Amino acid sequence: MIPFFDVGAVNEPYRAELDVAWQTVRSSGQYILGPQVAAFEEEFAAFCGVRHCVGVGSGLDALSLIIGGYGFGPGDEIIVPANTYIASVLAISANGCTPVLVEPDPSTFNLDPKAVEAHITPATRAILAVHLYGRLCDWDALTAIADHHGLTLIEDAAQAHGAVTAGRRAGALGDAAGFSFYPTKNLGCLGDGGAVTTNDDELAQRVRMLRNYGSAHKNIHEAVGTNSRLDELQAAMLRVKLPHLEADNQLRRDVAAFYLDNVHNPKITLPNVPESSHVVHLFVVRAGERDDLHRTLARAGVGAAIHYPTPPHRQGAYRGLAKAPLPITEELSAQVLSLPAHPALTRSDLERVVEVLNAW
Ligand SMILES: *Cc1c(COP(=O)(O)O)cnc(C)c1O
Repeated sequence: MIPFFDVGAVNEPYRAELDVAWQTVRSSGQYILGPQVAAFEEEFAAFCGVRHCVGVGSGLDALSLIIGGYGFGPGDEIIVPANTYIASVLAISANGCTPVLVEPDPSTFNLDPKAVEAHITPATRAILAVHLYGRLCDWDALTAIADHHGLTLIEDAAQAHGAVTAGRRAGALGDAAGFSFYPTKNLGCLGDGGAVTTNDDELAQRVRMLRNYGSAHKNIHEAVGTNSRLDELQAAMLRVKLPHLEADNQLRRDVAAFYLDNVHNPKITLPNVPESSHVVHLFVVRAGERDDLHRTLARAGVGAAIHYPTPPHRQGAYRGLAKAPLPITEELSAQVLSLPAHPALTRSDLERVVEVLNAW
């Protein structure tokens, strides 16, 4: 049996250090916004190459607090890919803004810059660009569009911890970025967690206030905030795992390289995986008979998953949101299949997966 993801196996190499980190926090008596959160914020900001990191409760909250922190609200449109995880869209509507769904380029799964440009209106305020599956978006093209139209460029970096383009990392590309540390992400904690990274001093200060009841000074509430703080315990877990992120990402890239070298089946379309700008959060293939392939893998004891089987505009939550057909997004949702691609896979696991894929 080869599970799609194995959180126990992924965290096993860090077991002793994670146990020490837990003991340290327990005995410190500081459980909310203590020294671990402060240290992790500094370390993750340095890793990404930005001035500020603000730890928050989840990836969804990170994105939502960025949008709220910039003051976007009702009447404002924010462009977002139609084929993303629903959290990207929820972060927009949580602030009363209107999500404008834009089709991806099927060869990269990421926002198609030309389609972005076609959806800009006088009400557009921002682009929320998702580095889907761990592959960085075409950042030069998006930056040119954002600059030309005076838009804020926000990264959804929940799947792209550590990805690099032209010497800059995810989290340092846009005006601000939202990260998730959900356990299966490339940098995952042992519960929920998230962070905002930015070089914008004002936004950082604003998000820091909003995550803590809208308060910068005890009992003074400047803004209608929320309670969304990165947990002290989770920050301690993340401090154990951050120094190993690059090595873990390399293991994911090695898995991708193995599939790319060894899967030969005309019914399966493999993704292209550019070097450092893809951290293989997911290794996603396409197949016309995707459901049959999924069942074949399951029968052979190989876990696979679909990201995502139902796009946001087909969900009950967003009925009527799509103002025009989204044929690329719909075709992708019918064809994509994510293969096991985590750092704890062994060579024999991979050989077995390849054998099943090639025999199909
Ligand atoms: C996981 C994820 C989120 C949400 O993160 P949570 O921590 O689960 O709230 C947002 N966007 C994308 C693309 C994600 O993969």
